[in-house]
Amino acid sequence: MPEVAQATATIFERVAAVRRRIEASVQRAARTPAEIKLIAVTKTHPAEIVREALNAGLTDFGENRVQEAEAKIAQLADGAARWHLIGHLQANKVRRAVKLFDVIHSIDSTTLVARLERLCAEEERRVLPVLLQIDLAGEATKSGADVAALPEMIEECQRCAHVRLVGLMTLPPYFDDAEQVRPYFRRLRELRDEWQRRGAFGASVGDLSMGMTHDFEVAIAEGATMVRVGTALFGARG
Ligand SMILES: *Cc1c(COP(=O)(O)O)cnc(C)c1O
Repeated sequence: MPEVAQATATIFERVAAVRRRIEASVQRAARTPAEIKLIAVTKTHPAEIVREALNAGLTDFGENRVQEAEAKIAQLADGAARWHLIGHLQANKVRRAVKLFDVIHSIDSTTLVARLERLCAEEERRVLPVLLQIDLAGEATKSGADVAALPEMIEECQRCAHVRLVGLMTLPPYFDDAEQVRPYFRRLRELRDEWQRRGAFGASVGDLSMGMTHDFEVAIAEGATMVRVGTALFGARG
């Protein structure tokens, strides 16, 4: 889409354009559209925008801060949206996260798993699906656990009655050329495959939450099942 058209496009047009991009990548990879969940990342955008996005057929929304999400979710309290926490979760916000989110993608330590489990019990949250966020580039500034911590985190999840491990997530470094991100996506898929064989995700194949506006085509080619897209749907963040 030309840039001017993109800037003035309606949410309906933008959703359609993102779905076309997803469908094209899915076809190239000989996969099916049903394998990909589009998570609309609404951070910095107000509740009215989420409402428009719901009207445009989006169902799943991603927020990276508990506080910001809390206000927004309260304004959209009709239960139609599913909320995904995709940003770092601080220990003192775990209780609120348990109450607010349907899925948490950003679990990055064993102590966080244990804390989530305890607060799920306290809040009578029967099942909380989580993904473990892995920092594959070893970037000190990024959240996400070191690959070496994965076995212990998975073991902790397996001890849980409420926390349910459903997959892995990564936020790779940014490259102008999205192709350069491919090795990170591939590595996450290999980890998922390995842990799937070892039964870490129960009967399910294990989700791969990877790919954003700039690189989700590459992520889909490498097996993504959840893509987290903000800019392509809602424009640049201020
Ligand atoms: C903001 C954000 C996204 C969406 O990024 P876009 O480039 O706007 O699509 C995806 N994942 C995470 C973890 C984010 O914080």
